[in-house]
Amino acid sequence: MEGDGADGIAEVVDAAGRPLALGAYSSDSQIVARLWSFDGRLPDAGLFRERFAAARALRAEVVPPQTTGYRAVNSEGDLCPGVLLDVYGETAVLELTTAGTEIWRADLEAAAREVFAPVKLIVRETGIRRDSGQSPIPDTKSEIDLAPFLENGLRYLADVGAGQKTGFFLDQRDNRARLRALSPGRRVLNLFSYTGAFSVAALAGGATRAVDVDSSAAALALARRHRAENALSADGSDFVDADVFEDLRRRVAEGQRWDAVVCDPPAFAKKKADVDRAARGYKDVNRLAMTLVSPGGWLLTCSCSGLVDADLFQKIVFSASAEARASFALVARQGAGPDHPVSLDCPEGEYLKGMWMRRAP
Ligand code: SAH
Repeated sequence: MEGDGADGIAEVVDAAGRPLALGAYSSDSQIVARLWSFDGRLPDAGLFRERFAAARALRAEVVPPQTTGYRAVNSEGDLCPGVLLDVYGETAVLELTTAGTEIWRADLEAAAREVFAPVKLIVRETGIRRDSGQSPIPDTKSEIDLAPFLENGLRYLADVGAGQKTGFFLDQRDNRARLRALSPGRRVLNLFSYTGAFSVAALAGGATRAVDVDSSAAALALARRHRAENALSADGSDFVDADVFEDLRRRVAEGQRWDAVVCDPPAFAKKKADVDRAARGYKDVNRLAMTLVSPGGWLLTCSCSGLVDADLFQKIVFSASAEARASFALVARQGAGPDHPVSLDCPEGEYLKGMWMRRAP
C-alpha cells in the first residue's frame, strides 16, 4: 500500500503493478476499497454527475405514477458504491455510507443538487461511524423534519430529521401495493410497523381494520398522523407500543385470528456471528405470526438481513410453519422495487426478501 489515502482514492493494481480499478478508500472498513471505475477514470465531480444522471434516467422508466418518493441512487447498483440518495418530494437525503465517500462529500453533494435539483438536500454521513463499529446514526435527537411525498397516490411523510434509514422504507413499495390489492374486507396486523405505511396501504385498499405494533413511540405517533393525512380510520387501539415478541405471545394465548399479517422486522443479523441467533429470532416470530393467520388468510414475512440469504430464510420460515402446525403455500416473492437496482458484481446489494404466503383454507 502506498500513499496516505487523504484524497479518499484507492488505486487497485495487479501483481505487476498495472492499474486495475479506482475506488473509494475506507481505512477502517472490512472493505478497504469500493470500486468506482475500471477504465482509469478518476472518481471526480464529472464522474459523479454522469453516474447520477444515468441513475435518474433509470428512475424515469421504473418509478410508478403518482409516486414522488423513491431511491434515486442505490450504491453499487448504480455504480456509486457507498452512496445512497432518496428523494421525498422536494427533499432529497444523500447518505454517504463509507469513509471514502465522506471525503468526496462536496463533489457528491454538488452533483446531487445539479442532477436531481431538490429544493432541500440533507446529507447524512454514516460511513466512519459504521466502519469503526459504532451505530450508524448518532443517537442525538434531531429536530422534527418531515418531508411529504406520494407513493401510488397515498400521502406519506419521511422523518428525514430523526427517523430510521433516511426516514422511510422505500424498499417496501411493491409489497405495500400488493397488500393494498389483497385488503378488501380484511383485518390486518402490521408487525414492526415503523410509521404504519403498510396499514395505510391496506386501509386505502379496503381493509376493515389495521393495527400497527412497534416499540418506537415516535414511529407510532407518525403512523397515527399518516392515517389522518389519508383520511383513513384510526382508533387509539390501532397503535400498539410494544415488543412484538411479547405482543404476539399475548395474541396467541388469546386465540386471536387475523386475515392478513405483515411481519417486517429489522435486520436480526448485522454480522456473521449473529446468524444463528437471528435464525432463531426469525423462526420464533414467524411461528407466532403464522399461528394468528386465519384459514385462507395471508402472511407477508420479510427479512432484510443480507447475511440470511433467500434459501436460508425460506428454510427458517418452513420450520416455523412446521412448529406452528400450519400449512402455508408460497405464492409470491417480492423484494425491493426496481428503484433499488442490484449490481451483478455485488449481489450482496439484494438484501430484502419478502415471502407472500397463503394459509390453507
Ligand atoms: N415495515 C416498516 C419498516 C420496519 S423497520 C415499513 O414498511 O415502514 C423495523 C421496525 O421494527 C422499526 O420501526 C423498529 O422500531 C421496530 N422494532 C425493532 N425491534 C422491535 C421489537 N422487538 N418489537 C417491536 N418493534 C421493534
